[in-house]
Amino acid sequence: MSTKEILNFINGEYTKGTSGKTFENRTPVDGSLIGVVHEAGRAEVDAAVKAAREALTGPWGKMTNDQRSEILHRVANGVTARFDEFLKAECADTGKPVSIANHIDIPRGAANFKVFADLVKNVGNESFETPTPDGTGALNFSVRRPKGVIGVISPWNLPLLLMTWKVGPALACGNTVVVKPSEETPATTALLGEVMNEAGVPPGVYNVIHGFGPDSAGAFLTEHPGVDAITFTGETRTGEAIMKAAAVGVRDVSFELGGKNPGIVFADCDMEKAIEGTMRSVFANCGQVCLGTERVYVERPIFDEFVARFAESAKQLKLGIPEDPTVDMGPLVSHEHQRKVLSYYQKAKDAGATIVLGGGVPNMPAELAAGAWVEPTIWTGLPDDAAVITEEIFGPCCHIRPFDTEEEVIKLANSLPYGLAAAVWTENTSRALRVSGQIECGICWVNSWFLRDLRTAFGGSKQSGIGREGGEHSLEFYTELKNICIKL
Ligand code: NAD
Repeated sequence: MSTKEILNFINGEYTKGTSGKTFENRTPVDGSLIGVVHEAGRAEVDAAVKAAREALTGPWGKMTNDQRSEILHRVANGVTARFDEFLKAECADTGKPVSIANHIDIPRGAANFKVFADLVKNVGNESFETPTPDGTGALNFSVRRPKGVIGVISPWNLPLLLMTWKVGPALACGNTVVVKPSEETPATTALLGEVMNEAGVPPGVYNVIHGFGPDSAGAFLTEHPGVDAITFTGETRTGEAIMKAAAVGVRDVSFELGGKNPGIVFADCDMEKAIEGTMRSVFANCGQVCLGTERVYVERPIFDEFVARFAESAKQLKLGIPEDPTVDMGPLVSHEHQRKVLSYYQKAKDAGATIVLGGGVPNMPAELAAGAWVEPTIWTGLPDDAAVITEEIFGPCCHIRPFDTEEEVIKLANSLPYGLAAAVWTENTSRALRVSGQIECGICWVNSWFLRDLRTAFGGSKQSGIGREGGEHSLEFYTELKNICIKL
């Protein structure tokens, strides 16, 4: 693979900046060097924020919703026109199979611009006729205005998709953005700058700065007084640090954070469907999906059969390079993450888990041996307070535990400080309604997983997030709702 220089994108131009610092971008597939990334220092972050502020009152700020919407459609079409380039860059950065990225990451990355561009054109605002003592009355009505410069901090698991999920609505609402992609996966966010220019997005509207979190571009951006609001997807602990930074100047935040999601399988489920869905929710993207399942609870009468059939399916998963269309799972995103996941594999062993499947590093062909591979792993038999059951691992693994009653399993599902997603498997509609209504989470699937309608509210409860985005809910964060009161 050839090595690329990955640059910051500020005010419509690519720049190495003046920090003089670079860091390596290695693919987790075989550990080889694929890029050298130019890290932004305070000067580049200042320049990016300044460009974004100025762009707010430039041509971008004067456009109508329709004009911005047209440009954002061109951005979406521009991503689609360069589909293969985005696909290649995303798969090299993350190691994920092409067969996943080509129907999720890249198409959804493009769709995020169209969905929100169309949405803002069709949302009305409220108005009230207000009686007054003199009988003439008053008219109250609201208008929406962009919030300003939005700092976007994104993670590595679905880099283009999760970044555009924020940038799409932010731009559709007339804001400007400074994006700090994950240091693990900078390529597609940087490449999008070219598409923005080609689509006619004015300079300064979309800016990209590269670097890490603390004492680097991430912190410089979130601490910057020129940033009006911060939208962040990543770990709960990082969210705490960003919230502290955002407190200075009382800036608004939207957080999509970590999870430890339960899957609940009732004896009256359709076993085929439950196994197929749980296979995806545990192993998709090598387990690196925030909405994925890491705790599976199975009603006792079907526990043994479920574990046996689930393990049999998981045994069939094929690991390999992104380009192989028969591959189900790539490596983890990095060696650092591999060390984290393997530390939990060790913790499970130490805590006396029954290892139903996996538990280590697979034997890969010699040319891939330096990649960040781990085995799909299934455990049973751990106590409810074991670390692998209470802490987010973000790997291709789960613990399966039997339960006896609805009441018991709801209590187990709600027992952690996280509350992102859940999946319930049952053919009994009353039970589905009862249970889904009681689970503390932002999204509860029944007989499905990862089925998303972008018009719906998305976010986490408890320590899994703050706020909701998606459809009209995104407008809550990306616009200021202003009330105008006219005395008649
Ligand atoms: P992370 O929190 O380590 O990093 C996310 C981003 O934050 C990166 O760009 C990183 O450089 C930056 N960052 C780190 N420290 C910072 C600081 N102090 N100030 C500013 N920026 C900082 O998360 P990750 O490992 O990239 O992603 C995995 C995590 O993301 C998991 O916890 C997962 O559950 C979560 N996630 C949540 C959702 C959701 O929708 N709720 C979606 C995807 C991922």
